[in-house]
Formats: sequence, structure tokens, C-alpha cells
Amino acid sequence: MDTITHGLAGSVLTRTLSARPARRAFLLGAMAGMFPDCDFLFTPDRLSYLRNHRGWTHSFIAMPFFALALALIGRLVFRRARLPALWLFCAVAIVSHILLDWVTSFGTMFFVPISRTRYSLDWVFILDPVLTGLAAVLLGAALAWRKGGRKVAAAGSLLLCSYIAFCAVQHRRALAVWRRIDGPISGARIAVLPQFLSPFRWLGLSDRAGEVHAAFFDIGPFARGVPDPRPPERFSEILSSLSDFYPPPQRAVILRFAKPAESRLLAATRALPDVQTYLAFARFPLATVDSQPDGSAAITWEDLRFLPWFSGPWQRDQKNGLRREPFLYRVRLDAAGRVLDRTFVPTSRFGRRSALAPDLRPSGAPTSGSAGRGLDRSPDPAQTLRSRGARLLPPVTRETPRAATESGTTLAQTRS
Ligand SMILES: [Zn+2]
Repeated sequence: MDTITHGLAGSVLTRTLSARPARRAFLLGAMAGMFPDCDFLFTPDRLSYLRNHRGWTHSFIAMPFFALALALIGRLVFRRARLPALWLFCAVAIVSHILLDWVTSFGTMFFVPISRTRYSLDWVFILDPVLTGLAAVLLGAALAWRKGGRKVAAAGSLLLCSYIAFCAVQHRRALAVWRRIDGPISGARIAVLPQFLSPFRWLGLSDRAGEVHAAFFDIGPFARGVPDPRPPERFSEILSSLSDFYPPPQRAVILRFAKPAESRLLAATRALPDVQTYLAFARFPLATVDSQPDGSAAITWEDLRFLPWFSGPWQRDQKNGLRREPFLYRVRLDAAGRVLDRTFVPTSRFGRRSALAPDLRPSGAPTSGSAGRGLDRSPDPAQTLRSRGARLLPPVTRETPRAATESGTTLAQTRS
């Protein structure tokens, strides 16, 4: 969740704890609600961001101490206030932050330092204008209606929880839909991830033996989706074109990404501490191996959780329109397995494709017959993967559960 929403929600929640329209509840709620995200100040590079963001400051174990520190700071301003009351405001706001992060897909480390396991419910997209708008209106109402502010805040907190519960129900529905259209395979790791601007739009992902499947779909009553959607080229086109890319489930195109064959060099990158950090963060990692004639290789790791379409924020690529591909990590090894260099692939405004050239040019990967998708002008969101040499298998469209079984056969045949 974005930091502003955390501040607004924290402020609304702490207002429910205060009988009087006290400034301290609002201010401490906002400050403590935003506080956990200050951890990015202590992550000098992207790898340490992946390792440590949503760690210590988002931990239930460390929470009481952070709440105390913030309450002591609050005491410098509100000198007559009781410390336990200030601590309670801060604790409630920090806990609200942790829980609001939990409902997103990023992964929150609740139990640092005991465990670095990341928890995520995948209910709400990381930027949710409905949630932010609701929290802002509720905070405004609670501030304006001083006497009834507590009741407004209590009703508002309930409303915020109801919205999240609604998203949870949609998540459950989307998961059932994804299981049906992708076809059940035991041992597959599956998830449906919320998408921008609608609780009905989802990205289904399943990690199977040998391949990873992905599909964008809309389970809402107004699902549209067009067979050959045109990617936006201007910011002004993003919102209007969005619904084109999320068809109803029966028309969803399942993209199949082949995992690379196990190799010595792939195993060598996996053992690197920085790649392990990456893999601890990634939930649907896919490696693309680009082997060179001299025996060296460039291995690029991508988390399909962030597959474009449509995750914002946006980067303008001067050559290829708009795109977004965060967290691509590339390691280059020589034939002996020694690391030549390793870095996040730049996704700057100068264009990732030009940054990738010349060492990661298309390497004869099979083309996909899938409809146009993706944030760039490439034919589909997997184009960017193919441009690095990822093997994209023919996509499948499963019309009905019955057809799903049939496609399952086709799929197996294709593989054999
Ligand atoms: Zn956070």
C-alpha cells in the first residue's frame, strides 16, 4: 500500500481511540501510520531494498519498540499527554500499516528477526485509489465533524474493512476461476494477483513443472477485453485502454513461459548470494538463459508477478512507448562460470531494449500467436521476455471447463 494511504488510514483508526477531538490522535496516527515505510531510507540499492523493505519496521515483534520511540517523540509535542495513550495511538497505526501491506502482493516480513518469511494475501493492488479516496474522505469528515468525529472514524474504519473484505471475496472467486481455466495439475504453485484500478481484474499465475502460465482476466460484470488490444502510447491512453487487456475468463489467453533447462551456469547463478536475495523476494521467478558461442551466458531473472500489463508506476521508453518492468536481475558468466558482471537491468527512460543490446538480442525464440498485449508496442507482454531469449510456448485459450481438459491434452502433446 502506498504511504499516503497508510497515513490516512492510521489517522482514521487512531481517532476511534480518542473520546475527544484530540489533535494528537490524528497526528500520531498519521505519523505512525506512515512510519514503517521509512525503511527505504536505509536501503541504499535495489538489492538491499528487496532484502530489507517491509522487514524490521513492518514486524509485529519490533512494533512495540517503534511505537514507544514514536510515542516519546510525540510526548515532546504533547507534553501533558499520558505516554501509554500515545503509545497506543502509535501501536494501532503501525499495526494498521502492517495489515494493509499484508493484503497486497509484495510480501511483508511480520516476524523479523525470528523469521524472514514474507506474507501476502494478494487481495488488494498496491495502489488502490478507492481505498485512498475512502480514507481521505473519512478523515476529512472526522476532522470536520469534531463532536461526532469518533463515530465517523469508527464507521469509516468499518467501511475500509468492508472494502478489503469485498476484495478478498473477489480474490477467492478469481482463484477458483484461474484453477478452472488453467486446468488443475497437482504440485503447481498458483496465485491470482490483484491488478490496477479494479477489484475484478486479476493476473493468474501458475508455476508448473517445466513452465509458468500467466493470464490476465476480468471477473467483473463489465469485462470487455478485445482480441487485439492496442497498447497505449501516451499516458492519456492508459486508463481508457486498460479494459481492452482484461477479457472475461472464457476468452483469457494463457501465456506459457518455458523454464530453461538446468545447466551448470544456471546453477552457478542460483548459488550467488545476490541471486538468492532476489529469489527470496520473487514469487514466480523465471530465468532466461542467453548462451553465447564462446560458452559465456547472460542469465536474466524476472519475477512474473510484475508481468506487464498493468501494474504502474510508469516509465516512458522513448523508443517503444510506455513500459514497466521492475526487478529484472541479470548475471553474466564466462564459460568457466566466473561472474563477469551482475546488475539490475536498467529500465530508465532511455529504454530498456537499447540497454539490453547487443548481448541480449532475440535468439531465435519461437514467436507467439497471442493477441497483442503489454505496455510496450511489442505484440504481447512476453515479447520483452522473448527479446531476451525466453522461450514462449504457444498460448492456449480455454473456452469452457470441458475444453480445459482437452487443452490439457494439447498442452501435453505440445510438450512431447
Ligand atoms: Zn509498508
